[in-house]
Amino acid sequence: ETIGAALARAVRRHGDRDALVDVPSGRRWTWAELGRAVEEVALGLLAKGVGRGDRVGIWAVNCPEWVMLQYATARVGAVLVNVNPAYRVHELAYVLRQAGISLLVASTAHRTSDYRRMAEQVRGDCPALRDIVYVGDPTWDGMVHLGGGVDRARMAAREAALHAGDPVNIQYTSGTTGFPKGATLSHRNILNNGHFVGESLGYTAEDRIAVPVPFYHCFGMVMGNLAALTHGACVVIPAPAFDATATLHAVERERCTALYGVPTMFIAELGLPDFATYDLSSLRTGIMAGSPCPEEVMKRVVTEMHMAEVAICYGMTETSPVSTQTGRADDLERRTGTVGRVLPHVEVKVADPETGRAVPRGTTGELCTRGYSVMLGYWDDPERTAEAVDADGWMHTGDLAVMDDDGFVRIAGRIKDMIIRGGENVYPREIEEFLHGHPKISDVQVIGVPDAKYGEEIMACVILRDPADTLTRDELARWCRGRLAHYKVPRHLRVMDAFPLTVSGKVRKVELRQEAVALLS
Ligand code: ATP
Ligand code: MG
Repeated sequence: ETIGAALARAVRRHGDRDALVDVPSGRRWTWAELGRAVEEVALGLLAKGVGRGDRVGIWAVNCPEWVMLQYATARVGAVLVNVNPAYRVHELAYVLRQAGISLLVASTAHRTSDYRRMAEQVRGDCPALRDIVYVGDPTWDGMVHLGGGVDRARMAAREAALHAGDPVNIQYTSGTTGFPKGATLSHRNILNNGHFVGESLGYTAEDRIAVPVPFYHCFGMVMGNLAALTHGACVVIPAPAFDATATLHAVERERCTALYGVPTMFIAELGLPDFATYDLSSLRTGIMAGSPCPEEVMKRVVTEMHMAEVAICYGMTETSPVSTQTGRADDLERRTGTVGRVLPHVEVKVADPETGRAVPRGTTGELCTRGYSVMLGYWDDPERTAEAVDADGWMHTGDLAVMDDDGFVRIAGRIKDMIIRGGENVYPREIEEFLHGHPKISDVQVIGVPDAKYGEEIMACVILRDPADTLTRDELARWCRGRLAHYKVPRHLRVMDAFPLTVSGKVRKVELRQEAVALLS
């Protein structure tokens, strides 16, 4: 099935139910209204001469037009390219050229003049770029207006020619470990993934999903928008970019049943001084994903945010994204300690990174995934694609994992983040979990830093609950003593106000390490 066909079905089945709510502007659409809005934009794209397979860039924070463009590009067979809203001139030019974008849609809702100034500045350097349209500006209305003159038969003919295996989206990875890579994904890849994620959360047309994570990233556009589309649920946009207060306000006002976030977002929400004053009783479920989910935080989300059925998902942009997910019926222990079991129609194996052979249950190895969800490839980069996806179709994730006898997967961390201290493998994740139990610590990241004697030493970077408080290295070491093997006790401590984040809200450990090296030298 194509995304356009899925949209037509949602419109038929759930026409008069809410599909999309933009809390900041108060605008809302039913599925029938959204279907019409998408049609107008799709006709506008045809009028602009957007052909099948052409790349259309979207450079915007979360807004309703983002969703419309997502569906409209799919309907005309174009490939939507998610351009990071945090990009500046240099990176914008790079992605416009790398993906050969012919039409760029940029938002003016946020940092208006900046986006316009930067887009106009790079225009001349991007030969493929024919046109720029600004959301919330006459150029957007002009495109929609132009579409009015397009023959509907042209639209129908274009749609009839599309296949589920066609590329529909280029999504960039978060850039947590280096420069982002553009994963090319098909209708089949992401539509199915959205469907199975939603099914495992038990979504129906009654559900209302608060999506404070960026649409720019697969978490928002697949696990949010496409999970909603395939189940007739409603997407609620709390704010253009993540804001803890706006998120809780949106949940309360729109009686949301589901809430998404990376762990740092839930930590911020739980940490609001007026947290207890929000009525979150409508919440039932949601997803915490993207990076390791601390057990302490998970427990508070279940009890204090009413998200009794909250799931943890594990995945990556290259696999559409989700590969494993905890189930509604799994006990809390499993929903805090594991990333669940493999989703339907996907295979996972834990393999020896050297040989590629599966290791016995209970043993750490590299997680590999195979199935409909594996990307078509990195855009215009066959070499890196071949490094990531082997000849048998296995995607090598670069993540270390252990699978238990019942098939539940535990993520031990990234191969790149593993610390080797004096020949001993140390998993930052394990120490982070432990330090989350410290009464003064609100958030923590553990990294390896170079050490003359041991090769690498352990540094804990912490954010304190009370910014006025202090924590010394000795105090922390005393607290760890007797409860954590001596070689895992952090030798270095850095107290910080905030961590460097990617736009999807993940901590950039590469940057933390670079800063630490500079601080220590
Ligand atoms: P880049 O590939 O550019 O360095 P990235 O890997 O962070 O960035 P994404 O595709 O957004 O880009 O994220 C996928 C990665 O996120 C996974 O490979 C894994 O390391 C991590 N991850 C995702 N979900 C979880 C989870 N539930 N628990 C632990 N780690 C997770
Ligand atoms: Mg990655």
